[in-house]
Amino acid sequence: MRLSPELFRQRIEAVRTEYLHCRLCSRRCGVDRTVGPAGVCQLGTSALCYKEFIHYGEEEHLVPSHTVYLSGCSFRCIFCSDDAHVRKPSLGTELSANQLAWLIQKRRLEGARNVNFVGGTPDVHLLAILEALALCPSDTTVVWNSNLYMSADSLEYLRGIVDVWLIDLKFGNNQCGRLSGVTDYLSVLRPALQYCATDPGSELTVRHLLMPGHFDCCTVPSLDWAARHLADATINLMTTYIPFAKAQKHPVLGRRATALEVEIATSYFLSLPFQRPMVNGRFVRQPSSRTTKTEHVILPETATGQAPRPDPNRRG
Ligand code: SF4
Repeated sequence: MRLSPELFRQRIEAVRTEYLHCRLCSRRCGVDRTVGPAGVCQLGTSALCYKEFIHYGEEEHLVPSHTVYLSGCSFRCIFCSDDAHVRKPSLGTELSANQLAWLIQKRRLEGARNVNFVGGTPDVHLLAILEALALCPSDTTVVWNSNLYMSADSLEYLRGIVDVWLIDLKFGNNQCGRLSGVTDYLSVLRPALQYCATDPGSELTVRHLLMPGHFDCCTVPSLDWAARHLADATINLMTTYIPFAKAQKHPVLGRRATALEVEIATSYFLSLPFQRPMVNGRFVRQPSSRTTKTEHVILPETATGQAPRPDPNRRG
């Protein structure tokens, strides 16, 4: 975080006002969240958390990472692994700003290099997160693990607060974006990603999940676009898709990618001029000497690297 306390307070007040007619994400519901859940995300003002722990399976430059899973989402992905918590946020536990800030400090003392807000997507919990971060030390490293289906104003509210943008780039066209329940995927995601790539003082990691049957329509255009516009970012090709939720019965998405599909996608990915390519969270070659604020933290003995890989399908 790089924001002064005074600016932090101003941001919180601005976001609090935003909740009166919420347009934080590109659903632009325009509802008053201060009187209770009313929009697509079904969230009021409180942070609802359904799990949190120190994650050793995120991208290797981010672990150990304190992942905080917040309920609700702006997407409705048919393949979401956390579908129940996305569709019914009330399953989560309500946390006050003090409780969330305390958890962040506790996990940091236990060895976490950063706090990694995820869900669902953290965007829909902006007020609760800012209120908690305002109570944390200013050198807290913040990872924003998001679908990035955000309004331009929401991105601005996070300027100077996010240290690492950890973003899913799922689809290569708007038609496939309907699998996440939205019709304007590309027109929202691409400018937002370019914003993140140029946000001063932060760094960007982009995940692209190979989905069965979506190499030509999604993987190729996503990677080609990223190679043109985000070549300096860390790009993580994930090949570990698992059909969850409604996708289990989907004619195309109801299976894992085959070994041949994985081989073709990986080969294509590695042919592109990325500076920091990863496959399933591991750098393909030693990255350049660029460092993050988190790298001075000593790993605890429990950092065995045996934990599961990042959960690629998450996002409502
Ligand atoms: S965060 Fe998005 S989905 Fe939730 S109420 Fe606001 S505009 Fe609607």
